[in-house]
Amino acid sequence: MSNRDCKNISDIHSRCLTVTGFWSGWYAAMLYSVEGASPFPMRYRRSISLLACYLIAIPGFSWWATGHRTVARIAASHLTPAARARVAQILGVRDTPAAVAAAMAKASVWPDETKKATHTGEWHYIDLTLQDGKRAIRERCPGENCVTARIELFRDQLAGRKSTGVGDRDALRYLIHFVGDVHQPLHAASNADLSGNCEQIRPFEGADTLHALWDGGIVAAINPDDHVLARHLESYIARLDPRERSRWSRGTPEEWTWESHQIARQDVYQRLHVPLEPPFFPRSCRTAPDEITRFRLVIDDLYLNDMKPVIRDQLTKAGLRLARLLNQALR
Ligand SMILES: [Zn+2]
Repeated sequence: MSNRDCKNISDIHSRCLTVTGFWSGWYAAMLYSVEGASPFPMRYRRSISLLACYLIAIPGFSWWATGHRTVARIAASHLTPAARARVAQILGVRDTPAAVAAAMAKASVWPDETKKATHTGEWHYIDLTLQDGKRAIRERCPGENCVTARIELFRDQLAGRKSTGVGDRDALRYLIHFVGDVHQPLHAASNADLSGNCEQIRPFEGADTLHALWDGGIVAAINPDDHVLARHLESYIARLDPRERSRWSRGTPEEWTWESHQIARQDVYQRLHVPLEPPFFPRSCRTAPDEITRFRLVIDDLYLNDMKPVIRDQLTKAGLRLARLLNQALR
């Protein structure tokens, strides 16, 4: 299902930029062609329309890329010296905290940028239906082409236990990215809706579907800058009870998948009263059930404020867990 409507950052970017391009074009056309209607003198109109394009386009750059980069930065700051040295060597940068954090943040978005060309879209999620139990994780992952299995495979490659057919640099980039993806609840659940891509919402922080809201809209509402967000979450981690912090950093990819799935069930589908659909995997939203595509969600401030701590905890857990995986694999 690599042709999913909006399951990746580059799709979202291009879609957002198309939308922003349309409105910017409309605005520029208004400034240029409707002579009498424009309140601005001709010599200022070009700069005003360019400024409008820029301002309107800004939300397009604060998507789930922020989430991925934040997870990478948190993980970088919890690496052991040995693991950090190996990460620096694999990514080809100097072994300093700042250089490794920047390289990991950059690596974290590469799998989304390349997934269309490499036909690896299926590696980014797992389609667990709302009827599935935890045991269905293996069954819903044919050929190990799902996020859960890919985390295990790339971890094992970096630990020297197996080869997946890609180099260590790519294995590391995939691992950094997929630990982020598996903590996005809508990458671990599906309700005949392409994991929330088929439910429209009134645009919020540039997100116009339920999936996009969870990919980036709520993250952007917390803070759209990964440097700031990572620093904010580091102080949150420092305030956590040490036993809690240690508990959060543990678990297996299967357990993280199931935890994410349960968040999707409770905080997304149940809380928003999305109609429960029988197991079905449409290839596009055009073939999704009508009650899903016609469903109009009301996302209010109460919901957003309740979900911000959920996203905060998922980003924090992802960062701590990624660090632990790397510390164990790259000794
Ligand atoms: Zn992804």
